[in-house]
Amino acid sequence: MKERIIIRFVLVFILVTLVSFILTSYVSSNLTYEHQMNEEITNMYEEASYLSTQFGVNYYNRTMTIEEIKSVCIAIDTYMDCSVIMLDRDGTILLDSNSVHEGEKIAFDATLAGSSNCFTDNFYGLYQSDQLTVFYPITYYYQTRGYMAISKPIDLIKNEADSVFNYNYITMLFTLFLTLLALSLLLADILRPIKKITQLTEYYSKGDFSQKINLRRSDEIGRLADSLDYMGSEINSFNEYQRKFISNVSHDFRSPLTSIKGYLEAMEDGTIPPELYPKYFGIVISETERLTKLTNNLLSINNFSEQGMVLDLTDFNICDMIKQTIETFEGVCEKKKIKFKLVFTDKQLFVNADYSKIQQVLYNLIDNAIKFSNNDSSIIISVSEKNDRILTSVKDFGIGIPKDSVGKIWERFYKTDLSRGKDKKGTGLGLAIVKDIINAHKEYIDVVSTEGVGTEFTFALPKTKEAEV
Ligand code: ATP
Ligand code: MG
Repeated sequence: MKERIIIRFVLVFILVTLVSFILTSYVSSNLTYEHQMNEEITNMYEEASYLSTQFGVNYYNRTMTIEEIKSVCIAIDTYMDCSVIMLDRDGTILLDSNSVHEGEKIAFDATLAGSSNCFTDNFYGLYQSDQLTVFYPITYYYQTRGYMAISKPIDLIKNEADSVFNYNYITMLFTLFLTLLALSLLLADILRPIKKITQLTEYYSKGDFSQKINLRRSDEIGRLADSLDYMGSEINSFNEYQRKFISNVSHDFRSPLTSIKGYLEAMEDGTIPPELYPKYFGIVISETERLTKLTNNLLSINNFSEQGMVLDLTDFNICDMIKQTIETFEGVCEKKKIKFKLVFTDKQLFVNADYSKIQQVLYNLIDNAIKFSNNDSSIIISVSEKNDRILTSVKDFGIGIPKDSVGKIWERFYKTDLSRGKDKKGTGLGLAIVKDIINAHKEYIDVVSTEGVGTEFTFALPKTKEAEV
């Protein structure tokens, strides 16, 4: 890609340079020549007028001889690099600063020059090449007595114009050089990060998302690089997460399968005697239950993240739902001698939410509260109203969550060290599902816990508008 941009750049530059040269040659050179001619005409006209009024006229009032006037004309000839002649009214050449044409007679007619007082030819054949000849009349007693004519070769004027023009060329070349330098620097400044970006995308295409560019530029290229860096780090952490997820899933599937296989083989080869079968069947059933739970949880999580969670919102009484849910835990609560205390207001509290998903939330929170409670304790479930929300909290007096684990309990497969001994069946997915469900309702769930004292989870749901209840 770099080569192609450079080739395009060079082609465009050559094109621009050529156009500039052509324009400069055709337009600018003509302008310079015209300007030089006008300048010469003005200067020569001033000189001719000076010679006529200051010296030429003295010939006619007889205060200067023609030789004296000639010496002035020779000085002007040398100074201005031009020829000076003085003509009589009838065209006789009275003096020539070059002493070549004196005494000759030409058919000089001032009216042929029009108002410009100048000729651009060989001036009546006096010169071999074309000249710019500017003349000025010599007047004495209100009559034209003769003319002072100054001639300069047109080639000489052209050369002077060309030397001015050459300065233009040099300036233009210098400007082009500076432009080329500035554009090259600019191009390098653009190509360098593009090269880095290309390299990065090559790494990405090979699956290495750990590379970064870190351009630190605030322009468009910088923003593109930042976006790529961000994309890379997101994909990288997603890959990392996926690796961890798969290793957790396989681990969680392998351990119950290993124990089921182990017990069944032990029964088959007689290591476990038939009288102990009921006990080990119980363990095998419990392990298959764990596998079923794990599969169901994984399916829920997969559905949530693949399609985004689709909520079926209805209005229902949250207190009734709590009562129904705790009924399903009656057996285990009796075993652990755990009592529920329900703290509801007298008012009927209706929420607008997905019925079955909120049932899943309550089930998971109460299940945790029971699992991590000590025997002979109680669980307080309270429902309160706060502005346009209904807050439900599930509070237990169990093992609690260590401070440094509180932030991690929402992660998939996370279990605190404290809980591992208490609950071997847990998948560590329950709270991740709870969080997904509450987030999908655009609400929040908080936890307050003290290790060895207890834990309280509180989640919010939108209250049903009074008019609808
Ligand atoms: P599953 O929900 O699949 O049975 P689990 O209960 O272990 O597994 P989560 O519900 O996600 O998984 O809980 C994650 C971890 O958070 C638990 O393993 C436990 O360590 C901690 N935890 C959750 N609730 C409580 C609680 N009420 N008291 C103490 N620790 C808790
Ligand atoms: Mg749980």
